[in-house]
Amino acid sequence: MSILITTVIYKNYIISYQRIAHKLHSKFKISRGTKSTVKTLFILAKKNDYTGCGECVEYKRYNENLKDITSYIKKTLVINDISKIKSLSLQAALQNALLDVKIQKSTKNYLSFLKLKKRYETFITLPIQSIQEIKIKKNIIRKLKLIKIKLNEKNVLKILNLIKLFNSKAKIIIDANEGWSFRFLKKNIKKLENYNILFIEQPLKAGDQKKLKKVKTKIPFCADEDFYHNKKLDYNVYKWVNLKVDKFGCDKNIFSAIRLCKKYKLNIMLGCMVSSSLSIVPILRYARYSKVLDLDGAKFLKDDYKNKIKYKNNFIYLNSFFAWGKKKARQKTGL
Ligand SMILES: [Mg+2]
Repeated sequence: MSILITTVIYKNYIISYQRIAHKLHSKFKISRGTKSTVKTLFILAKKNDYTGCGECVEYKRYNENLKDITSYIKKTLVINDISKIKSLSLQAALQNALLDVKIQKSTKNYLSFLKLKKRYETFITLPIQSIQEIKIKKNIIRKLKLIKIKLNEKNVLKILNLIKLFNSKAKIIIDANEGWSFRFLKKNIKKLENYNILFIEQPLKAGDQKKLKKVKTKIPFCADEDFYHNKKLDYNVYKWVNLKVDKFGCDKNIFSAIRLCKKYKLNIMLGCMVSSSLSIVPILRYARYSKVLDLDGAKFLKDDYKNKIKYKNNFIYLNSFFAWGKKKARQKTGL
């Protein structure tokens, strides 16, 4: 059920939302949980003849949920500064809705306004699954150059061996989503050096970054859960960060994170949540600041928006008919 609620005003924009849940093709499992649906808020910002939209995805890891976000929208009368909104995913969605209007006011489409390419290369994620399920994906794995594999402590080497067997050239990112113990990491790190691993993403719990200093390895580490707005990152430990708009919010915060990365020579992987094309397309404006992309979030959706982005092997293809940035597409609620 989706109800359109309109209450909040920002710089004479009227902000409203609609709840939209997207079903996934199959269950998406990572270390801390499994999902089969993605709950979102379709955020609309309306001023005069223009209405922009953005997508807000709840980020449970950071205690964000749609209930709190919608009650904030309902009870707040005026927002003066987007960067003061507590929910970072709402900040990002609102920023995207305002950008949508900005593009509409120009004579360009979103591709030329944001100077985007029509095609981007991205890592493709394999969620946690059984050995049997990985075997079934042999033909998919064979065609991938860039693979991000979600792993808890179970079957790590067996799964990596299988991937190596199917595709010895693929570059691999391991994402443990904080699911490994320090002991497990230390015990296995030398063995992991036998695979073509670009980096290991967030092996330990956020806050345990100092422990990584004690792990001697040539494999770099990437901060995801340790890389969060206003949280201190140990720049000596990590060589990579996973930058997601849902963890940083509005443009102002994201650009200050990008500047920090530049200062401390951290490589940026631009990441996303499992989310629709309405999240992924706007994120691509930050692609030029990133070394690699991990933007396959919309690939898992069964019911994405019309003229959605398409995925083929490691590539994202943008569709210039996608409704974001287009004035005529105002009937797009529910798209
Ligand atoms: Mg991650």
